[in-house]
Amino acid sequence: MLSANEAIVIRGARTHNLKNISCDIPHGKLTVVSGVSGSGKSSLAFDTIYAEGQRRYVESLSAYARQFLERIEKPDVDEIDGLAPAIAIKQKNTTRNPRSTVATATEIYDYLRLLYARCGVVHCSHCDGLVRRDSVDEIAAAIMALGEGTRLQVLFPVRALHQAEEPKPTTKRGRAAAAKAGAKAAVESPMTDALKARLTELRGGGFNRLYQQGRIFEFSSPESLLEIDFTMPVFVLVDRIVVDGSAASAGAENRARIVDAVEIAYREGGEVIFEEVPRDENAERTKHRFSAAFECSVCHRPAREPEPRLFSFNNPFGACPRCQGFGNTVDFDLNLVIPDKGLSLNDGAIDPWNRPKYRGWFTDMKKQAASLGIPMDKAWREMTDEAREIVLRGKGNFEGVYGFFAQMERKKYKLHVRVMLSKYRGYAECPECRGQRLRAEARAVRINALNICQATALTVGRAKDFFSNLTLTPMQEEIAGQILHEVRQRLTFLDAVGLEYLTLDRLASTLSGGEAQRIQLATSLGSQLVGALYVLDEPSIGLHTRDTERLIHILKDLRDLGNTIVVV
Ligand SMILES: [Zn+2]
Ligand SMILES: [Zn+2]
Repeated sequence: MLSANEAIVIRGARTHNLKNISCDIPHGKLTVVSGVSGSGKSSLAFDTIYAEGQRRYVESLSAYARQFLERIEKPDVDEIDGLAPAIAIKQKNTTRNPRSTVATATEIYDYLRLLYARCGVVHCSHCDGLVRRDSVDEIAAAIMALGEGTRLQVLFPVRALHQAEEPKPTTKRGRAAAAKAGAKAAVESPMTDALKARLTELRGGGFNRLYQQGRIFEFSSPESLLEIDFTMPVFVLVDRIVVDGSAASAGAENRARIVDAVEIAYREGGEVIFEEVPRDENAERTKHRFSAAFECSVCHRPAREPEPRLFSFNNPFGACPRCQGFGNTVDFDLNLVIPDKGLSLNDGAIDPWNRPKYRGWFTDMKKQAASLGIPMDKAWREMTDEAREIVLRGKGNFEGVYGFFAQMERKKYKLHVRVMLSKYRGYAECPECRGQRLRAEARAVRINALNICQATALTVGRAKDFFSNLTLTPMQEEIAGQILHEVRQRLTFLDAVGLEYLTLDRLASTLSGGEAQRIQLATSLGSQLVGALYVLDEPSIGLHTRDTERLIHILKDLRDLGNTIVVV
């Protein structure tokens, strides 16, 4: 007989059909409870041992905490000793949240949200340009790299006070021109009171030179200011610098001066422009613009820095606004619009356009087909994604299938239009997020070319490879280290319990009982509990021999961590 220090000691268990059973289950060992069906294996393992473990745990909590928990009846047993905190891993699919996925159930998704928020490369959700903030160190390095002897003027734009806080949206042409000049249009209207106030303030701040198109104007001579065209961008000249990295000490001094200038420009203007001054007066002046704002490096639209909740489709902050994070909408079902993917456009692949009333849309498409670059005689399923996109979303004057439906929507007051529309309506993949559930800003954050939706669309096996072979910058590596470790570890456990074929975004509610149990097992392995009691319900059901061996191996590992395992 073992003592309570060495074993779980059970005396006189009579739960359900148990007939006054007494036994000892040794700690730190793997114990199998066997017997024919109906012999009371589960009554002993779950309804007695696990139930009592749970009950004692609940009893040990404060009265306040207890009121939120279900009260567990004391099992019918004379005595149980040596119980450890108990964890039951049952076959039953216990997921309560219908949106729960393999990734959320295993906490992998929580770590991925963190990973993407901290290390994701942010792209512009409008033009896919890189979104970044230029750090002072990066700017200094970039300027030093321009090479020995490069002469530069350091500038920041003059913005009237109210504009500084709320930049006016510039026109498309204005933006293009500004991008060319390397700077946004700084002042759009001639001298206003706000602008005067700003100039006075700058002068008071010790700035004494303005700059416009190669000319410098002194605050000290007001008549020179009269020559400034205030309908054009005007800049403050912060400093004039010659890149000098020759001797180590001179290099450091030079760098410090660049850093100073950048910091001043950032503080006063939110951006800094280094304009190269060529030896030849008439040569093109190259501009290098850097911004303190987190914005797109191509279209300069401001962006928001990602945070974990941006990647949650259960949160309005992250969910696709069109489908509220469900991934589908009641919309035009492409399978109804193009019922036979084997047909070409000429064969009438676009069903609504075969109706005499809407034949004009087909004729229009056919006329423009060559210039649109869409093949009229290729089966729909053989067309390139690009060509299909043009047919669906349109291009130039051709409005495409979606344009057609949008126009019909406006004519819904006509009965026949309503009838026609209803024939093509169904649950369709959300056209905004393409079923990825997250808003554009979240989908535009990528790590090694995959956004978080694409990463969770991978199977466990492929995700394991992906997250083990990431190419990261040293800084990303440092930030991501622990998070990645957690992700990889959980993927390794999922793989080890034989679930490498599941995709991470697989809905937990669609898993078989055995798969759900093995996910719980993998999660327990991930939490690295020590000194706990695990009660498992026929874990090898539905497993191949090879996987059963792996499972036994895992249970042994769990035991070797110092846990007690009871397998029914
Ligand atoms: Zn952009
Ligand atoms: Zn959506």
